[in-house]
Amino acid sequence: MTKFALAVHGGAGTLLPHLLTSEKELLYKSALKEALLAGQKILINNGSSLDAVEAAVKILEDCPLFNAGKGAVFNAAGRHEMDAAIMNGLDKSCGAVAGVSSIRNPVSLARAVMEKTEHVLLIGKGAEDFAKAQNFTLETDDYFFDSFRFEQWQQARVSGKIQLDHTEEDKKFGTVGAVAFDKKGNLAAATSTGGMTNKKFGRVGDTPIIGAGTYANNQTCAISCTGHGEFFMKQLVAYDISCLMEYKGYSLEDACDIVVQKKLKDIGGEGGLIAIDSKGNICLPFNSAGMYRGFVKGNSEVEVAIYK
Ligand code: ASP
Repeated sequence: MTKFALAVHGGAGTLLPHLLTSEKELLYKSALKEALLAGQKILINNGSSLDAVEAAVKILEDCPLFNAGKGAVFNAAGRHEMDAAIMNGLDKSCGAVAGVSSIRNPVSLARAVMEKTEHVLLIGKGAEDFAKAQNFTLETDDYFFDSFRFEQWQQARVSGKIQLDHTEEDKKFGTVGAVAFDKKGNLAAATSTGGMTNKKFGRVGDTPIIGAGTYANNQTCAISCTGHGEFFMKQLVAYDISCLMEYKGYSLEDACDIVVQKKLKDIGGEGGLIAIDSKGNICLPFNSAGMYRGFVKGNSEVEVAIYK
């Protein structure tokens, strides 16, 4: 049995070797490694899985390569509306925010919702008012500006499409997430996203919906998803995996396999997830061409990958 372990993702999608330069590939891999090392350090020093997933996700939110925090995509109004969630498998406490702008690290705001309120999900202006009351530093739009994202949005506006992070040919879901298992045997999960480019009408995806894009339960597993959110919500992907383990006695691997490769695919859902169980087993399944992903078990070296 592994004493502690951590996995991260930076989104799934049409990730094929010819679509990514080797320089870009290295940048993605080093960001994933940095996130894993930050989480591993916490776990080595007897820190909690909750602290480890928050730290790992914050690093990915601060990296403009991913569709979360600093790199969040543009919505139809030319702004950034972010969603995030965090869950503690020990007592199923959880917190989430949806449709928030100006927040540098939405995952930390989600954690504040969990720890400082009696609620689970705060949205939009209310969530931002809560952030101010909690002395979160608010960022201006300039902080989130990225010319690549801006170009994506311009293309989406011309075609009138609501896009998953990138064009159709190069479809990517750049959401970020982490799951961890600590020395005390506690599981935690966290996910953060900018959602879909050119999204309208306050669209919210699976990320902040507990049981859909994010879930943790010490009796079963911790899960963080990435992909076309609507399908993950219809299938309640994260909770479905936990249920197969709890009620049917499936292993983490079998539960992930049936949900990602069969149930999700059957309704047209594309994407993947990272999962960890209460023995420290890790699964990183996806039904898209690739998924930015990585894991580390105990004190060993971190491992990262992009393609199948
Ligand atoms: N699942 C996210 C959403 O639908 C997108 C992603 O994974 O990149 O909002």
